[in-house]
Amino acid sequence: MAKLMTLEEAREALLLQASRERLTTSERVALGEADGRVLAEPLHAALDLPPWPNSAMDGYALRFEDWVGVPLPVSQKIFAGSAPAPLQSGTCARIFTGAPLPEGADTVEMQENTRLAADGSVEFTEALQRGRHVRPRGGEAQTGELVLERGTRLGPVELALAASLGAVELAVVRRPRVALLSTGDELREPGSPLGPGQIYNSNRYLLASWLRRLGCAVQDEGVLADDPQQIREVLDSLKDVDLILATGGVSVGEADYLGQILQSSGELTLWKLAIKPGKPLTCARYQDTPVIGLPGNPASALVTFGLLARPYLLRRLGIERVIPLALEVPAKFERSRPGNRREFMQARVVEGRVVLHENQSSAVLRSAAWADGLVELPEGQVILPGQPVRFIPYSELID
Ligand code: AMP
Ligand code: MG
Repeated sequence: MAKLMTLEEAREALLLQASRERLTTSERVALGEADGRVLAEPLHAALDLPPWPNSAMDGYALRFEDWVGVPLPVSQKIFAGSAPAPLQSGTCARIFTGAPLPEGADTVEMQENTRLAADGSVEFTEALQRGRHVRPRGGEAQTGELVLERGTRLGPVELALAASLGAVELAVVRRPRVALLSTGDELREPGSPLGPGQIYNSNRYLLASWLRRLGCAVQDEGVLADDPQQIREVLDSLKDVDLILATGGVSVGEADYLGQILQSSGELTLWKLAIKPGKPLTCARYQDTPVIGLPGNPASALVTFGLLARPYLLRRLGIERVIPLALEVPAKFERSRPGNRREFMQARVVEGRVVLHENQSSAVLRSAAWADGLVELPEGQVILPGQPVRFIPYSELID
């Protein structure tokens, strides 16, 4: 038997290809439209953030030197959004969180550490510290500073940060165009009745929605029958796509016409990966368009998309860090007979320990729907309860 390829070898090969074919075209989109997109240009601060020193607390602002142990009269009240007058020396200012510090003040004391005297002046009940509770001008970012790198995937936090810097639009990488092919004579669409031997096409929904979450423009070609003529016509009709993603029929078995066509009129590499599920993976080109062929079994398609196709697409978008984060969590199970492939099992974390779903069949989606993530069990290794195992939360994969 040929040596199996490790997940890392396969991923490195895919990432290398992806790095060579990064998408270079960008477009400008409004901040409100940029969720899930990838920055095509670095974002530099257009202003100092915050633009002026302000108070981190509700309390009193003063010049530290003016505090000599006697109460200070209050000379003004400063709310967030107002423009204060310079601080009169020997006084303090009532100030609220986020309000600008008056010129001359350098310290804020929180109201909990003060007492109002009968004449309205403020007594400080604790020792003050110079500069305390002041957010300095430019403390988060200074004008011109690099704030978000090119290749950053934009989510709620990044968009909020860009907004805090006054960005109106962002330059993002254009959406990758992905043609999605489901293959197999047995596949029917929900809505039409099942005949003998037929099943509903689930991978189409798995992959189309996942691709869209990754910011891809999906060209969904639906089901291709196991018919070489039709498959060739569909392949030839694909224009301007960045990736052809296929599931099922991609090995070179008798009815695996897609694999056969790719082998005869393109380049085809069939990988046998040392992972379970998801052993067969096809990496090909058809008329210069990259093709990734995922196995047909739904849980295999899920694992290989998440661990290989997703990083590949993210890298084509220009993202550097594309490998999902894994946490070490103690096992709440025992595995006495390890196999020779690394196993990815549907798992949940319950009270800080990893439990496995009882059904790990690659044909089954219910266990994945139940799971919070995949536990990664190394080949040839016995696992005892309490032993730490790598757990990849689905939030790291399906985002
Ligand atoms: P294949 O890779 O074509 O040999 O298919 C392997 C298994 O996955 C078979 O049981 C197929 O019926 C099933 N399968 C293939 N494509 C899909 C799909 N799009 N949705 C659900 N199951 C599929
Ligand atoms: Mg098939």
